Amino acid sequence: MTDPNPKKLRIGWFSFTCCEDSTIMLTELLNEHFFAWRMHLDFVNAKVFRKSGPLEQLDVAFVEGAISSEKQTEKLKKIRESATKLVAIGSCAVSGFPSAQRNLFDETTKAEIQPILKRFAYLPKVLRVNEIVPVDAFVSGCPMNTDQFLVLMDKLFEEFGIRKNKE
Ligand code: SF4
Repeated sequence: MTDPNPKKLRIGWFSFTCCEDSTIMLTELLNEHFFAWRMHLDFVNAKVFRKSGPLEQLDVAFVEGAISSEKQTEKLKKIRESATKLVAIGSCAVSGFPSAQRNLFDETTKAEIQPILKRFAYLPKVLRVNEIVPVDAFVSGCPMNTDQFLVLMDKLFEEFGIRKNKE
């Protein structure tokens, strides 16, 4: 008999300094996987899909984008505390780039952008996610490689004991 209340993977999707193209890739994936995933995934925190509430306990937090301010650093630390696993999504989260381009500016250009950094309380340097918190898995690509993402999703379903129907 089918379980009417199957265990779902509780996930969060968070975007920091980036163009949010991996979010677009995720929504594209839903075109194909929505009906298979809806029984197995609970989008607990995902501003792109639902009104964002307080941060809740998550099985997996997916983080896209680089970290460029103290405020983002604090938010990322809170996300890490509330998630069993944290996954860095896309090149900006994994390596900082291309969002971290200002790290490579010459001294003159760096001096020119100081007022902007000060005005928006940006960090002196843009950071990748694992410079701030431990990361359990990485999905590379700009935007993220969707094949890698799907392989990881299957691994996560298995790891958290989510019995997935055939797609
Ligand atoms: S990795 Fe590429 S696609 Fe993803 S946020 Fe950064 S610039 Fe955008």
